Amino acid sequence: AFLEKIDEVEDEINAFITIDADRALEKAKQFDQKLMEGEEIGILAGLPIAIKDNIMTRNLRTTCASKMLEKYIPPYNATVVEKITREDGIILGKTNMDEFAMGGSTETSYFGPTRNPKNKSFVPGGSSGGSAAAIAAQESALSLGTDTGGSIRQPASYCGVVGIKPTYGLVSRYGVVPMSNSLDQVGVFGKDVKDAYIALKSIVGYDPLDATSSKKAKLEDIKFEEISLKGLKIALPKEYDELRVEGDQEIREVFKKSLKVFEDNGATIEYVSLPYLKYALETYYLISTAEVSTNLSRFDGIRYGHRALDYNTLDELYINSRTEGFGEETKRRIMMGTYALSQGYKDEHYKKALKLRTLIKNDYDRVFRNFDIILSITSPILPFPFDSVINSPVDMYKADTYTVPVNLAGLCAMSVPMGEVDGLPVGLQITANRFEEKKLFTAAYGFE
Ligand code: GLN
Repeated sequence: AFLEKIDEVEDEINAFITIDADRALEKAKQFDQKLMEGEEIGILAGLPIAIKDNIMTRNLRTTCASKMLEKYIPPYNATVVEKITREDGIILGKTNMDEFAMGGSTETSYFGPTRNPKNKSFVPGGSSGGSAAAIAAQESALSLGTDTGGSIRQPASYCGVVGIKPTYGLVSRYGVVPMSNSLDQVGVFGKDVKDAYIALKSIVGYDPLDATSSKKAKLEDIKFEEISLKGLKIALPKEYDELRVEGDQEIREVFKKSLKVFEDNGATIEYVSLPYLKYALETYYLISTAEVSTNLSRFDGIRYGHRALDYNTLDELYINSRTEGFGEETKRRIMMGTYALSQGYKDEHYKKALKLRTLIKNDYDRVFRNFDIILSITSPILPFPFDSVINSPVDMYKADTYTVPVNLAGLCAMSVPMGEVDGLPVGLQITANRFEEKKLFTAAYGFE
């Protein structure tokens, strides 16, 4: 049924870069057989799942939506892919994204943009836009994304689905093409909170192959029927009221109504102060681009991916391969990161950002001593029409105001649909302390 849906809508939506229909059907048959023979079945029990195209799949092309990796076929699976297979999930294909996960609209993909299934003239958000759209268009039951600064939560918000960015270290990143190692996390999308829970449950866990994977990586069993919002302590950062972005008024109205749902169901809400939040965006764009610039140095035309045909010297081979292989936004970030790390500027930019990161983390730690969750909007802007915001990279970066601090502090957060503005979905962001995913599910399910 999902493959039929893909046939019907995919030409317009473009949620996938690669569809693996034959193998998916084969896998589904094997699963049927297993079921008939009464074998034990995994928690994904034959569910179709779409995988963001920066997550390695053995013998299935993994491009990061870049010309650089247009033809790259990985020789091994990411740990999350192994886990999905073990839990009887059926991989449908690889989803579209912003090139190397940099962006918030899926417009920087070498394979063309994905359209928002809720309104096809608008972007689906990004960078995991394909994974969010695949759920919204019912092309897949579940999907995986990655979130470095909002790339799961923001497209979830734009497409009206649930998206989770887990605690740093909860999910293995072995076999995930890194954008920014100290911020990247693999997470999930589902049409509702319970679906997202099943997806997350299937991929969490300590992995000795990932040095940043935590031994504490576990997701408790959650009894959804027992969930209540009573006594839940909610914090609202007052800095978010000061950090207004033009045009966010109507989204804030929907947010206010959502807060009432929490209050009416017995939660308490208090304003708190996180004074360093106002530096989060600058801090994020320095640290992430710095890490991007070093990570992407591996694409030199020799070890992986695209190699220029036209060169005379080794330097020319590097330069021409990278010039041809990378898109504009990717180059912009490599330039910014190289600058931030360069001799003479490093202390002023990169090191300062590292210090701010600690201060932001301390702010959160203080709040979570007395509160269960923090609520905010997911994105201060609505899904936008194609080719409108990308012309101004800084405007696009500003839209990440609410999502990036979570990654800087290594916390977990979820975006759940909270309503619509002008017929376009808007998301509520729930944030909890490290390894407190259970609180996210409590708040989200109680609200949903
Ligand atoms: N929009 C953010 C950025 O462009 C988030 C990216 C991400 O989470 N991968 O950096």
